[in-house]
Amino acid sequence: MANPVLPSSGVLSPLGLDAVRLSPGFWGDRVALNREVTIAHCQEWEEREGWIGNFRGERPRRGREFSDSEIYKLLEAMAWADHPGLPALAETVAHAQEGDGYINTRWSGSRYTDFEWGHELYCYGHLIQAGVARLRMHGEDRLTQVAVRAADHVCRRFMDGTETCGHPVIEMALVELYRVTGTERYLEMARRFVERRGLPALADIPFGRAYYQDDIPVRQAQVFRGHAVRALYLASGVVDVAIETGDEELLKAVEAQWERTVARRTHLTGGMGSRHIDESFGDDYELPPDRAYNETCASIASIMLAHRLLLATGDVRYADLAERTLYNMLATGVALDGRSFFYANPLQVRVPAVPLEGVNHAAEGGLRSPWFDVSCCPNNIARTLASLPAYMATTAADGLQIHHFTPSEIRGGGLAVRVETGYPWNGAVTVRVLEDGDGRIKLRVPAWASDATLAHGGTVRPVAPGYASVEGPWRAGDELRLELAMSPRWTFPNSKIDALRGCAAVERGPLVYCAESVGDESPLADLAVRVEPPVEQEANGVVELEVEASLGDSDGDGWPYGPSRNGRVDASDARLRLIPYHRWGNRGPATMRVWLPI
Ligand SMILES: [Zn+2]
Repeated sequence: MANPVLPSSGVLSPLGLDAVRLSPGFWGDRVALNREVTIAHCQEWEEREGWIGNFRGERPRRGREFSDSEIYKLLEAMAWADHPGLPALAETVAHAQEGDGYINTRWSGSRYTDFEWGHELYCYGHLIQAGVARLRMHGEDRLTQVAVRAADHVCRRFMDGTETCGHPVIEMALVELYRVTGTERYLEMARRFVERRGLPALADIPFGRAYYQDDIPVRQAQVFRGHAVRALYLASGVVDVAIETGDEELLKAVEAQWERTVARRTHLTGGMGSRHIDESFGDDYELPPDRAYNETCASIASIMLAHRLLLATGDVRYADLAERTLYNMLATGVALDGRSFFYANPLQVRVPAVPLEGVNHAAEGGLRSPWFDVSCCPNNIARTLASLPAYMATTAADGLQIHHFTPSEIRGGGLAVRVETGYPWNGAVTVRVLEDGDGRIKLRVPAWASDATLAHGGTVRPVAPGYASVEGPWRAGDELRLELAMSPRWTFPNSKIDALRGCAAVERGPLVYCAESVGDESPLADLAVRVEPPVEQEANGVVELEVEASLGDSDGDGWPYGPSRNGRVDASDARLRLIPYHRWGNRGPATMRVWLPI
């Protein structure tokens, strides 16, 4: 079966990519654009920047020490998309593999001299994930041979010892390779990498060992901390190890860490990571909108983790967070034309960014860039969109579960259905049964859907957040209709989040909204909103909102503090237009804010 995550046990089972066909719609359009535009865009830039040339031995070597991993992520995207460019690129990569399976264009000659920053095992992790994707989509070929040889090399070199990599990802890669090949040493190697972490296994660094989750053993940690992508990749690998080894304690540890992280360290958009300096989680409730880092890769890692926990437990909360993160982070990370990307995703931008022609050397979030010195995010988006159907639905012994609503045809759990919907713009979801069959159909009722009904067989009943379930048998043509009321709603932060005190945000369905200002529109620096029902407007198929606000544009007079409340000196009443957060930054340099002072 072709799917990035195929656990041998769990409450829910994944479906293969071929079992979930996306039709034109919110996600189907993005998946098609990814296949037709973004994958080629990434390959062009990797060629132009010399990162592919590194594998041909072109010198001087170009790119960062981990640039090999970007080619591997791209290969994974190509594998899931069945892209015709894969064999030639895999052949180029294969040239750089040494006789014993070692492959790295930066460290060849001085291998394994820097576990803290060298990223050699991290690069193997992405190579192995690409190999797994190819094995599942196509079967053995040059790419899978390179990946398996690298994995065997890793097992020979690292099975005994105390070493591990500063950047996790090899853990989940090795477990998945075990799942596809049945070779137990890959699982055992992954297990050892997990157990070594925090003993500690790595040197102390100025950011502290928490940066790479080497401060305490995984089983003892209470919350995700340190570098957000590292933390979430590690947690995903830990879930995989826990499932395959039957280690309940390990699984429970990650569930508890997830729960606390979601409760205290997650932005409204599902973004994770508050600090720019080390791309890390902040302390509990440290969630500043303007300094939010929220790396696109961290959101992808969060989706990967939530999906694994959903498969393991069937708990709807994981699908709810995945939805929030899909619509407000993954969809935000890539421009509407598929050719530029956000790295950081703050919830407020005070100063419009200056457009760049070439490579962005920074990782700030003011304007999407076609490429970065560190281009993890574009390639990560490419591989995630290429495998997105994998996240939409699952099966269990009793039937089919649909977690995310987008126009699609789904076959699984003994059932074949077509999903018809204008989600996320409207909340009507029709599930049409295509063939006679039996089994229970479960539809996720999102946590935000306080007003929802399910119509079936001539009756309509209210359904609560969780899963709405209808028993078979089914005849071709039978229909379920889920109606989720999509009224815009005001959302208020927990008062412990100091940076958001006195603010509110607007959400509608799964979408977070924001105010955006381009050109000489109000800079949004000096505003206050009235918490009245927002007014909906449809523009080109997109639902926009308007709220009542006072808008000003006054500078302080020398000292921004005083004995009485100050600001909004020249405020005037206005209507403030809100757009879906995922669409911001598509009209050129802009200021933006999600959280609006009341
Ligand atoms: Zn990234």
